[in-house]
Amino acid sequence: MEASSDGQAEVAKRVLILGGTGDARRLAEQLVAQGHHVVSSLAGVTSRPTVPAGDVRIGGFGGAQGLADYLSAMRINVLVDATHPFAVQISSNGAEASQASGVPYLRFERPAWQAQEDDRWISVGDTADAVSKLDRGACAFVTIGRKEIGMFAVRQDVRVVARMIEAPGGDVPANWHIILARPPFSIEDEMALMRDEQVTVLVSKNAGGPARSKIDAARRLDLPVIMIERPPKPAARVLVSLDEIAATVAGEEL
Ligand code: NAP
Repeated sequence: MEASSDGQAEVAKRVLILGGTGDARRLAEQLVAQGHHVVSSLAGVTSRPTVPAGDVRIGGFGGAQGLADYLSAMRINVLVDATHPFAVQISSNGAEASQASGVPYLRFERPAWQAQEDDRWISVGDTADAVSKLDRGACAFVTIGRKEIGMFAVRQDVRVVARMIEAPGGDVPANWHIILARPPFSIEDEMALMRDEQVTVLVSKNAGGPARSKIDAARRLDLPVIMIERPPKPAARVLVSLDEIAATVAGEEL
């Protein structure tokens, strides 16, 4: 372990973090504090992103080959994928770019949420499945972001309360209420929102991590949750804590 007593890395690494999550920001902060040179990469899908510590680049690389070229050009020592569990393409590109460039690839994967005894979860494989599981006349609190929200437009028999950071493009159907907000949210606020909007079902991705107030609120209100389970990501060296990532980045055995 190459960290001195003051927590600084003895051999600073050049690290590219594939980001776009709170975990990626926390990791950037930790690695910068340890003296590494960190570049965080954001997709550019949010117009006012919360900016991580260190350097930041915004926008796609142009597929796996573009990413491999970037890794070589920037003399990156390690690629850390801290993207959202549902961002499959960029993880697949990361694994492929690692193969092509020889730069080691680590993935941070926060554990998925597990249903507790009083939870009423209906697990589904994808968003299309979630749309089909809604009961006629339901009021669905949909918290899946804006990328796939358009899939709910076919359900004119359902009221949709959709929360996201930035508004979706195009016209919003008359039976939708869009709420623009950024986490964190408290359990009390989530319960108040669900009561005020007369929500009858929550639709969530199984993102894992700390932002689970909505799940706890649904349990307390005895509401069902349509839980979209995680898509598979490519096989890789997966670590489940930021400290493990930081120790591995600092170590010799990458
Ligand atoms: P995706 O489908 O896996 O990726 C689509 C394309 O976007 C990639 O091929 C890549 O373009 C570009 N891209 C994605 N993440 C990037 C990054 N961190 N840096 C540079 N380029 C990136 O991704 P997504 O599901 O649209 O998610 C986009 C971003 O939002 C991710 O960074 C993710 O961490 C964050 N996010 C996603 C979700 C979600 O539910 N999907 C939720 C919260 C946050 P090129 O091929 O041109 O390189």
